[in-house]
Amino acid sequence: MVAMYNTFMDDFYCDEVISGRTKVKVVFETDRVLAFHHTKPHWPVHIVVIPKTHIPDILSPVCDEKLLSELFSVIRRVAVNVVKEHGSCRIITNVGGYQDSKHLHWHVSFGDPSLIVRRNKYDKLIKEAVEDHRLGKTKVLRTKKDIHEFIYRRNA
Ligand SMILES: [Zn+2]
Repeated sequence: MVAMYNTFMDDFYCDEVISGRTKVKVVFETDRVLAFHHTKPHWPVHIVVIPKTHIPDILSPVCDEKLLSELFSVIRRVAVNVVKEHGSCRIITNVGGYQDSKHLHWHVSFGDPSLIVRRNKYDKLIKEAVEDHRLGKTKVLRTKKDIHEFIYRRNA
């Protein structure tokens, strides 16, 4: 199978984050670099580190040594805190077809991506339970056992 390659020049970081259109939870920043919590995390801990000026990717000649060193010092600082709190982390940057947003960015992450899927599914079920209760379809889910029974019925 051919990898999905996005031919549009998608740049979430310039269009949304640096422009301020999408508000982000900043972890750390310098004059030229920003670290923030991913708006749609793929891992339980998912921090993105970007240059504040447009650099397409790590192979780009526009990315000079000074900026690289500033980026790495921020990545390192973020990673130190993730490791201090969770014991380990990944540091990833993508190029070409692997890179969704065409603005240089690093992912600093911790944890099992499936936990996010499970958490989203759980959140959805809880919302449904609250809505069902509002409509008088179910009793109040007071205990863990009530919640588990509700989830069991939903998944059955
Ligand atoms: Zn950009």
